[in-house]
Amino acid sequence: MFLKEAVRGHYSRAEMYDELCEVLQKQVERAALHNLNVESIGIAVPGGVVPHNGHFNGAVGGVPFEAGEFVSQTITDALVNRCGMPLLQRVFPVRDAESLMQRIHLDNDARCAARWLITEQGPRWADFVCLFAGTGVGSGLVFDRRVSYGAKFRAGEVGHVDLNMGDELMLGKMALQRRKCSCGTKGYHFESLVGLGGLGHLAMALDHGIQKDIERAYVSDPQRAADLRAELGSEEVSGMILLEVLRRPGLLDLDEFPRSEEDLDEHLQRLMELYGQLFCVGITAILDALDLPYVGLCGTIPEYLHGNQHFQRSFRQHLAGNVMGTIVDPLFGNMREWGWRGAALLPRDPGYYIRRFPGSTRQPFTASERRSATPSSAREQAVHGEERLNEQHSDT
Ligand SMILES: [Zn+2]
Repeated sequence: MFLKEAVRGHYSRAEMYDELCEVLQKQVERAALHNLNVESIGIAVPGGVVPHNGHFNGAVGGVPFEAGEFVSQTITDALVNRCGMPLLQRVFPVRDAESLMQRIHLDNDARCAARWLITEQGPRWADFVCLFAGTGVGSGLVFDRRVSYGAKFRAGEVGHVDLNMGDELMLGKMALQRRKCSCGTKGYHFESLVGLGGLGHLAMALDHGIQKDIERAYVSDPQRAADLRAELGSEEVSGMILLEVLRRPGLLDLDEFPRSEEDLDEHLQRLMELYGQLFCVGITAILDALDLPYVGLCGTIPEYLHGNQHFQRSFRQHLAGNVMGTIVDPLFGNMREWGWRGAALLPRDPGYYIRRFPGSTRQPFTASERRSATPSSAREQAVHGEERLNEQHSDT
């Protein structure tokens, strides 16, 4: 929720760091109180990350960081300020602020989610893509049980692949217009087609009138109207309202809706059939090009649409019809659950570690060094994951 608000500009950059570091401070104090040690802090963020210095590379807009921002340094400074070095030295195995910064790890959120799936899904999932779809669209690519970073740490930035070079994209008999993407390009990027704004745009193109009626009925509730503030009218908010209504149809006050319930159902069903098809276009391109037999889906959109039978039927039908030679059974999950576990595993992933500390002779943390302030179930999961990550790298 906090991130969503930050993305929508409801939090300034300074407020975001304040919130984040307040949470971290509480964890540090809690660890000190229980005489526990914390080895590292793992952070998953949307957009591009340069692992070797913890910089955010600013590949996309709409995230609460600036291009080139030294995130791990800012967090270190704030923690030293808030907690004081003596307390930090007690909780972390560090001497000074510099060595604390070495224990703050930052990576792209979709890559973190993919890292967790390597461990959660086991050896069968050797090659796969973990796709995130919400306001933005991104992915983590895994080959031979290793998270791929690419030459410029941008592997998996599938949201900015152009799916149509022409001036018009036809979906059935409907023409979709070019949309401005978070990268600044106006066109048919995968993200601008299937992100929240893309869903809103599709609904408007399908039936502008009924979509407006849905939105008016939705904000007849004063609390919802207040929540949306001045943003009503953007395609992104249209997309978010649709997800809410699709998940809980009873949410819409039908007394405020000037059409029949059948009209509403028909519109939503048609919308989901088309959206399932559109969602599939970009995914099949990735699966086919890279010969991947598995896909994990997370982020606001899959999380809301997981239970929608019309979306599921259309998506799976097009997936079966378009992916060459493989039957792909998509796995739906939760970004928050996958992402934080993958971030917690960062210092234990040799593939990340050699990029964070190029040329270092230090070894990644091992199970025997394990000392963590995380709750035991989470710690067990992270440790279990670490052992699997080490297993897969034991041949290197
Ligand atoms: Zn783009």
